Amino acid sequence: MFKTDLEIAQECTLEHIRDVAAKIGVEESDLEYYGNYKAKVSLDLLNRNQDKADGKLILVTAINPTKAGEGKSTTTVGLGDALNRIGKKTMIALREPSLGPVFGLKGGAAGGGYAQVVPMEDINLHFTGDMHAITTANNLISACLDNHIHQGNELDIDIEHVTWKRCLDMNDRTLRNINIGQGAKANGVERKDGFNITVASEVMAVLCLATSLMDLKERLGRMLVAYNTKKEPIYVKDLGIEGALAMVLKDAIKPNMVQTLEHNPVLIHGGPFANIAHGCNSILATKTCLKLADYTVTEAGFGADLGAEKFLDIKCRFGGLKPNAVVIVATIRALKQHGNVAYEDLKEENVEAMLAGCENLAKHIDTVKQFGLPYIVAINEFASDTPKEVTALENWCKEHQHPMSLSQVWAKGGEGAIDLAQQLVALCDQENNYAPLYAVEDSIEDKIQAIATKVYGADGVDFTEEAKAQIALYNALGWNKMPICMAKTQMSLSDDAKVYGAPKGFRITVRELNPSLGAGFIVALTGKVLTMPGLPKHPAALDMDINEEGHIVGLF
Ligand code: ADP
Repeated sequence: MFKTDLEIAQECTLEHIRDVAAKIGVEESDLEYYGNYKAKVSLDLLNRNQDKADGKLILVTAINPTKAGEGKSTTTVGLGDALNRIGKKTMIALREPSLGPVFGLKGGAAGGGYAQVVPMEDINLHFTGDMHAITTANNLISACLDNHIHQGNELDIDIEHVTWKRCLDMNDRTLRNINIGQGAKANGVERKDGFNITVASEVMAVLCLATSLMDLKERLGRMLVAYNTKKEPIYVKDLGIEGALAMVLKDAIKPNMVQTLEHNPVLIHGGPFANIAHGCNSILATKTCLKLADYTVTEAGFGADLGAEKFLDIKCRFGGLKPNAVVIVATIRALKQHGNVAYEDLKEENVEAMLAGCENLAKHIDTVKQFGLPYIVAINEFASDTPKEVTALENWCKEHQHPMSLSQVWAKGGEGAIDLAQQLVALCDQENNYAPLYAVEDSIEDKIQAIATKVYGADGVDFTEEAKAQIALYNALGWNKMPICMAKTQMSLSDDAKVYGAPKGFRITVRELNPSLGAGFIVALTGKVLTMPGLPKHPAALDMDINEEGHIVGLF
């Protein structure tokens, strides 16, 4: 019987975060402690190091996952530990887990097995309060907006066209559509509203793309909240509250430092949704790592069609980041799924189906090559993988001349990725021709077409009448020179979650667009995207407990 992630994390004797920070030359004066094992890192640290050359940047991405996740966070953490083991000064930059899914099905985002970030309970629960601050900022906008309407509505806000929603860091389906302001007049103007989960709030995306406190304030002011009765946009700055919002976020904007099970420094900061937002940790955390360490390992949500594309087309573009190499995580179970094996049967040996599923991996490799970057396939080994399957996958990689390494970080920690680390060091020394896939000046249609054909392998894109009308409006308003943030299922390269492998001869339908003007991108929705998840029939919360000594059980 394997130990749970929580049991492994609880066995770790943590080092004081001061000592972890000292390993990469960060002094106490740049730390704000949240207990002994967590600290905020000052923004001044990055400012003082602006002129220093960046270290190497490694992105960890994956093939289209099964619903369980294929181990990007686990690989990111294990690889960071492995690089440190071979004497490379390395930091890891990760996303902050959202509390909602913790009580649902999937669990947190602090890695797994012997490749984890600790203190695991804290990171997955309230951590340093960033989610609370983001929730507060989001809801301050709603409160001020509805108060403005109640107090006479000088801005002439059309209550049928309020685009801003309230938010909560909880999976609570009942809040997706609500009526507010019911009852007496003093309770405000009655209208329809709804809640997003906090990580789907644009405030989260803005925090993650901001490059300074003042840039944050400016971006918050640019966010669209509603239209007036003449169909003109109303922004946060029209409500005059961008200063208050930036104030609420003054600590949340600072990256959080924690450690791996092997006591290496990690910054965990920001965690936007990977569908309606860009799915990467903050630019500030990544930049801070790049200044402090010789190697930075970071990840982007879902498969390379979503996370890596957005990392390379949005985050790197905005942050002026120059990635050096990409790790593409593949698991034998997900490859079998792409060979059309049912989820329940993924544990059974099936070399043929796995090899058929390799076409999915091949497409993601092709995508990374189109961005001009060197790559390596990391096979994230599971106990259920059979020797025949592993050998067949290794042979497939060799045959197609794809650099590859078997990663055993889940079972062994950093020691399980020494070969991966060594190969990456060599890849990072190569010159590369990284460039985004499209120019922001291209039309909205052309940008979406570029992503759909080059990354998904689609023949083309169809726009609904609604999407066409929105594009016309955005063109008229000058909202067309921004990158595109695609919202698509993570399960498939296509916009149909049930189509595995590397489909051909299909088209993508863009149903609707949403302007995230503070974040600085246009969201293109291809299917129904839930921005407030629900809980499953048996929520993980039912299995959680804490005893008199404060010992926690059931948190994964
Ligand atoms: P992702 O970042 O791709 O969503 P995670 O790294 O968060 O995936 O891993 C998802 C879950 O799978 C975690 O609970 C983790 O412990 C588990 N996991 C990851 N790799 C392995 C492995 N090699 N063997 C067993 N479980 C694993």
